[in-house]
Amino acid sequence: MFSINNIIRSNIKNLFPYSSARDEYQGEASVFLDANENAFGSPLEQQFNRYPDPLQLQIKGRLSEIKGVPVKNIFLGNGSDEAIDILFRSFCNPGVDNVILVPPTYGMYQVSANINDVEARKVPLTEDFQLNLDDIAEAIDDHTKLIFICSPNNPTGNSISRADVETLLANFGGIVVVDEAYINFSRQKTFIQELTEYANLVVLQTLSKAWGLAGLRIGMAFASEEIIEVMNKVKPPYNVNDASQQLALQALANIDQVNGWIREILLQRDKLVLGLKDFDFVLDIYPSDANFILVKTTDPKGIYNYLVQKGIIVRDRSKVELCQGCLRITVGTPGENNILLQTLQDFK
Ligand SMILES: *Cc1c(COP(=O)(O)O)cnc(C)c1O
Repeated sequence: MFSINNIIRSNIKNLFPYSSARDEYQGEASVFLDANENAFGSPLEQQFNRYPDPLQLQIKGRLSEIKGVPVKNIFLGNGSDEAIDILFRSFCNPGVDNVILVPPTYGMYQVSANINDVEARKVPLTEDFQLNLDDIAEAIDDHTKLIFICSPNNPTGNSISRADVETLLANFGGIVVVDEAYINFSRQKTFIQELTEYANLVVLQTLSKAWGLAGLRIGMAFASEEIIEVMNKVKPPYNVNDASQQLALQALANIDQVNGWIREILLQRDKLVLGLKDFDFVLDIYPSDANFILVKTTDPKGIYNYLVQKGIIVRDRSKVELCQGCLRITVGTPGENNILLQTLQDFK
């Protein structure tokens, strides 16, 4: 039922992508006079005078081993935020097409929709933060190109029912984007293994959260070869800079350190929940599959302002639908979590 030709924008389908010097010659050579770089070097210890690999093949090779996905099914972006934007630009005609969002969820989907002048149809999650499949089915029309599902969800922290996501994948003629920014903290299985099953699946992951590399700006999309080819055609040619590529490659060798941190963060999350439960002003703490917790309180604004004044910043999500009274708190180091709990002792 899904065919990329039914949903790709015609200008993108017909696009001749930018062809860089490094696209036109690939192979061994010793004198590169093809890209107008400064052949003398960079005024730095480390040299960056050459353009980076536009397809980031070294990182993808390593990611392919880690994730068990062929290189041809991997796209890398300047953060997964870039992948989100490229999906809009590839598949959604401004002023014509629409996408489905299921709030409360990650804010960038709406911003990217607005930037691209694409209508975002909002179908709120149920009270227990799950998909409302009937209402989603109702909201879909012939111009619906993308559905964004964030699982584990930001800001609620829970995972979305796998069966529900599969129902969408099996029945929707557009692309289902499953944003797994927090998957490393979850007990749920990734959807990456379903890529062979569903031609309309895009899985987003990132090096910004569990991998501790938010400053490098590297996000991943996993999808069919034909979707990845479209995304590569639309992206800026050198969207991941060489410093980020080199450092990411080094970081990807240290997977044991990252797995250790993940275990520690999960322990700290449990301790934080226990510590917060005792406060009178805490009404509820929602179960989390992520490295943050959503905490329902009697006085979100008051607690937020009090913590700011003590130099502690959490996220006030109390204005977000279904999140009345809620603060989103990221799990910190043991020391940071203790400071938070100690400080909250004195909140009146
Ligand atoms: C943090 C976050 C991202 C952003 O990822 P980058 O790779 O840093 O752009 C994407 N999706 C969700 C749900 C997030 O919470």
